[in-house]
Order: sequence, then C-alpha cells, then structure tokens
Amino acid sequence: MSKHDQRRRRGLLGAAAVLLALAATPAGQALAHPGHAIVPKGPAHAKKVRVDPAKREWLAGDHHVHSWYSASAKPSEDPTKPPTLIKGGDGVNPITTNAQMAAKHGLAWMVATDHGGPDHARMNRDLAYPELVRSRKMTPSVLQFWGMELDTPAAEHSSVIIPRSAAERDALYDIEHTYNRREPWPAEPVRDTEGFMLDALRQLEAQPKPPLVIANHPSRTAKAVGVYGAYSPAELRGWNDTAPQVAVGMEGAPGHQAAGLTADGGRRADGERGGYGRAPTMGGFDQMTARLGGFWDSMLGEGRRFWVTSTSDSHRHYTTGGEDFWPGEYSKTYVKAVRSYDDVLDGLRNGRGFVTLGDLVSAVDFTATTNGKRAEIGGELKVAEGADVTIVIRVRDPKGANFGGVSPDVARIDLIRGDVTGPVADRSQDTNPSTHVVTRFTPKSWAREGEMLSMVYVLKDVKRSGYVRIRGTNGEELEPQPDPHGENPWTDLWFYANPIFITVTPPAGAKS
Ligand SMILES: [Zn+2]
Ligand SMILES: [Zn+2]
Repeated sequence: MSKHDQRRRRGLLGAAAVLLALAATPAGQALAHPGHAIVPKGPAHAKKVRVDPAKREWLAGDHHVHSWYSASAKPSEDPTKPPTLIKGGDGVNPITTNAQMAAKHGLAWMVATDHGGPDHARMNRDLAYPELVRSRKMTPSVLQFWGMELDTPAAEHSSVIIPRSAAERDALYDIEHTYNRREPWPAEPVRDTEGFMLDALRQLEAQPKPPLVIANHPSRTAKAVGVYGAYSPAELRGWNDTAPQVAVGMEGAPGHQAAGLTADGGRRADGERGGYGRAPTMGGFDQMTARLGGFWDSMLGEGRRFWVTSTSDSHRHYTTGGEDFWPGEYSKTYVKAVRSYDDVLDGLRNGRGFVTLGDLVSAVDFTATTNGKRAEIGGELKVAEGADVTIVIRVRDPKGANFGGVSPDVARIDLIRGDVTGPVADRSQDTNPSTHVVTRFTPKSWAREGEMLSMVYVLKDVKRSGYVRIRGTNGEELEPQPDPHGENPWTDLWFYANPIFITVTPPAGAKS
C-alpha cells in the first residue's frame, strides 16, 4: 500500500468523527458588539464593503513585483547635475510579462511595485502606468493594482497599494513625489526620518479610500535574532497607531527565495534565502513572523490587527541570472474575496488571508465558534467567560506537482494561541510570553478526504482574551530553524494563516 493510500485509509477512519463535529458547528456570521475592555487597534471596524461573504473565494496574489521601470541611477559626470535613471537597471521584465507570468502561476491579483532613484515618480507616472493599463487589457484574468515600492523614510522598503480609481495614477505620483526617500536630488535628510514617514501615513489614512502600506523584508537588515536593522518593533507600532487602516502588516515571507538556485536549477552554495545576510530567514520566513511568541505575536497580543503576507519581489528570474521566482511560482498570498479590486484590497486590509510557499496548501479555512456565533480568519469572536470555543481547520493539500516539480505533503499543522493583554509599556517589545502551540495535528490526527484535511479542537473554559492562529509545514522542524546558505527552497515549506481574535466578555451584571 502506498504512503498516500495508507494516509487515505487512516483519514477515512477519522473522517466520521470530524464530520460529526463539523455538523455540530453552528453557522452564522461573527457578531460585532461595541463596548469591550480591549480596544483593537486596526481596521476591524472599517467601512463594510457591500459584498455577499458567501461569494468570496480564495484568490492568490503578490503585492511586490518589480518591472524594468525599477531603475538604477547613473551619477552624472557633472556633479552639479542629477543622476540619470536607467530603465532595466534594477528589474528587467515588462509589467505585461509579469502579469502573464502571474496568470501562468495561478495568481488572480498582483501589484506593480517599482522604484528607482531621483525623479522616479515621473518615470512611474509617464512610462510604467501606461504599461500597466496595457497589461490590464492583455491579461484581464489578473487584477493588476497600481502601486510602488516606497523607499521608505527611516526604514528600508514598503509596498504601497493604491485603490483602483480613475485618480490612481496621480494619487501615486503625489505619494512618491512627496514622500519617497530617494525622490529629491540632492537628497533631503528630513526624508529619512520616522516623523516624515508618520506624516506620510497620516496623509494616507485621511484619504477617502486609503491605500495600504506593507513593510517589506522587515528583518533583511537585522544583525542577529532580535537585533533589528532598518525596521524596529517600536517603529512598526508607530506606523500602526498612526494609520491603522493603512499600515496593516508586513511581509511574513520575503521574496528573492531562489538565491540558492543556479540558472539550471542546481544549488548555489552561498545563496541566502531572501537575501537575508546576517540574520537568516527561518523556514523562508522573516524572524519577525517566524519566531513563536516573537514580534508578530507581541503585536497580536496588543490586540492589533496586523497581518502577514508573502511575495516574490521579482526583479530577475533565477534562470536568467537573478535570485527570484516569477509572481506566484513559489510564494502566494491568498485573500478571501470576490474578484474585484475593492474586495481584494478589503481582504488584505482586514486580514482575510493566509500565505504559503511552494503551493504547500491552496485553501485554509479556519473558524472559531461558540454558542451559534462564528468567526473566520481575520475576524473576532466574542465569547462569554468560561465558554468552550470550537476550532475547525480545513486545509487543501493540492494534488499534483508544484512549480518545483514535486508534490509536497503537509506533514504537520500547529494550532497556536496567545493572550491579548492590551498595549505594552515597552514599545520595543518583541515577545509575547503567553504564546504557545496548543496542539500539533499530523496525518494521524486529521481526517483526509481527497485533497482536504479536516481537524477539530475545542478550547475549554476560555477565561482570557486572546487569539488563535495556525501554521503548517512539509518538514520535521518543530520550530522553523535558521535557513542555511544554499538551502533548496523547495524542500523547506511553510504556510501561515492570520489569526482569529477571541474576546472574552464579562459575565452579565459585571462592570467592565
Ligand atoms: Zn525591497
Ligand atoms: Zn522589492
């Protein structure tokens, strides 16, 4: 009997128990009540988009893709003159090619995110934007947002995603021209300060349809675990406080994950996954996300609605001498949305998502229910003190080969829980000591039906507000370990889902 058949047989035995539990799970939407002790920071109560939630599906995308309009800056021979921008000096592919590759690799949406040196705002407006408009017509199956990689004041880079509108071209021009660190020549030192970035975020937050800003490769410049570089925990708290509708997350897994591959697909021994030189990625994820009870958990423990994504950062494909995969070839950010620009943006803003490497999974449905109330990924469940909360996880482990030519199996799924205790006193805190793995599911403890894995866990007698989240891997590491140089990225795959918040309401009659 093959490994697959054995697993299938075990799965069918377990399936009956899970189906019973699923049948007992009441359906219905999460209820929103005002007036609880911990005020969430973030977009949980953002303006509702008028969409039937039942029509939403998992749509994979990539919010960090460079084209040949990511320029290099060639210094002028006359030092009193500004440098010249060289098209193709950083990224090499047309936007139209990026979109075709996104479609080929299963993406439903992407964001064009170029950057360059001084006066790049004009190149984006006058050259890149018209190409995006053409690309939308050429590849209509992929929603193509207008955006950029902001050379971020006092930080390295962030993705700016512009809501689709007739004014999008000029909206981005204004942002890049006014706030991009590298835009002016000569350089303006004020543009490299945290205060300047907070001004930018304040201005974005005030827009009627606010853009999104997602911190890119946040620990790429870190010197060691917990020794941060261009991005610090306090800085991201400042962003999220200033613009809770806009600064909603960070790249959980950075791009440039093909750094360990040669052009013919062999191993490059000195390759660093993600270009993370001194503090490596862990299972392909940034330490700010990957460390259990680390920075991400400290943000969630404050009740912040702060999410993770995963991108290609595609500049140049590894088969032509680069370190990158095509959009969707290796990394996917899934958002639960209908196929519209507004709803995809709404899903990103409100954390309705999970991320995966190497197509380890292609759907993650994760719910928490109690007493007829139900919340999904990114949502909040209000529960009475002492209630039991049923966690149901259904994951699709797709058949067939991924773009690395293998069909990875999910080996384990961890259910993680942490307390929400409100704002921390120390803004540089990067730990949440309450965070722990509640249980580890394996092929022995989930039910398998075809591609679907189903599992249930009941949190008994819930007395403290907190959150639950899940992650999974094809490997055996209990915690994601620092990735060695030259690691084959296809062998060490993880997925992470955004959390569900569980807020305990005081018993009736108690004063809150
Ligand atoms: Zn970058
Ligand atoms: Zn980039």
